[in-house]
Amino acid sequence: MSDSRVNLLNFDRQGMEAFFTELGEKPFRTTQMLKWIYQFGVSDFAQMTNLSKAMREKLTAIAEIRVPDIIEQQVSDDGTIKWLLQLEQGNAIETVFIPENDRGTLCVSSQIGCALECRFCSTAQQGFNRNLSTAEIIGQVWAANQAMKVMPRNQRVISNVVLMGMGEPLLNFNNVVAAMNIMMDDNAYGLSKRRVTISTSGVVPALERLKAVSDVALAVSLHATNDTLRNELVPINKKYPIKQLLNACKFYVKGDHKRKVTFEYVMLDGINDKPQHARELVALIKDIPSKVNLIPFNPFPGSGYQCSSAETIEMFRNILKKAGVISTTRKTRGEDIDAACGQLAGKVMDKTKRRFRREEIKVSRHNINNKSISGRIL
Ligand code: SAH
Repeated sequence: MSDSRVNLLNFDRQGMEAFFTELGEKPFRTTQMLKWIYQFGVSDFAQMTNLSKAMREKLTAIAEIRVPDIIEQQVSDDGTIKWLLQLEQGNAIETVFIPENDRGTLCVSSQIGCALECRFCSTAQQGFNRNLSTAEIIGQVWAANQAMKVMPRNQRVISNVVLMGMGEPLLNFNNVVAAMNIMMDDNAYGLSKRRVTISTSGVVPALERLKAVSDVALAVSLHATNDTLRNELVPINKKYPIKQLLNACKFYVKGDHKRKVTFEYVMLDGINDKPQHARELVALIKDIPSKVNLIPFNPFPGSGYQCSSAETIEMFRNILKKAGVISTTRKTRGEDIDAACGQLAGKVMDKTKRRFRREEIKVSRHNINNKSISGRIL
């Protein structure tokens, strides 16, 4: 029975060593196994020819290498690829590959949906189901390589991984850390710590813990320069306000002179894109080794926001530049297949009743407007 077998994709090096030790095997089995799974893309123990036959049989009986199935692939005009991956109980998540001249970035999801309610993000509208397992996170990298027919041992097509897909990675701490360990392990994907980026909306206590267990690159979704606006756009700010968040960022980069925080800043027309906001941003981050990534807002139905104009974004950037802040404007990729930032949707069996609440609000507004009660919801 598949259910009772342990999925080896759930183990980083440490976990895998414990697994083999328990089997009475030598630690070098871990290296062999990591190489087979991640560098050669093998998911069948029978093909692992440097393991004894008895060992392969034993593994087949007690373990498995199970990755999420790809149920849909869409390729954008600009080469971006989006995959829909099937999980159990009708859930599905999305993973996006973004090819550029000098790199290939895979944007992976960390949760089914998202428990946070950032106002400008379409994943937030979907509600939340659960955390992804380590296997389901690293399985996205495995499945993407497989779909592109890449054997990582010989070819590195995915050179960067960003945890910027669906979900808040720091709210799925242990599984995300283990998956990132596998991404960076020399016997697995071997990516450098500067090429694995975790993006967070600002879960401060988890960010403080992260430094002790990982040294991946950090991106922080700032999006506003004062607490009033950030409380509205990124409601977790009510719990961990800007000052606390920035202190945690300072702490994260301390002691590594090469490390910088990337502050993500979504450009929302008339909301956070005024010259005064740019100046406030400069003041906020001036003593944190950092750069700013301006993200043109990607609209989705019912968001209520619009993207700032190209001129406004340019103006905003110029103010940052004059103040000596390094900034880039994120190129929107894969828009034609809804693969851009904030557009990932998947299929989320919402457990938060968020959609229901939204429907209720919509209906009550409708009733007030029409002064009549028509129909029932649900
Ligand atoms: N929860 C994490 C990672 C997922 S979102 C975080 O908040 O950082 C990845 C990035 O896309 C974040 O900076 C997020 O704010 C941004 N984003 C979300 N919706 C967007 C949209 N509609 N347009 C542009 N960027 C968006």
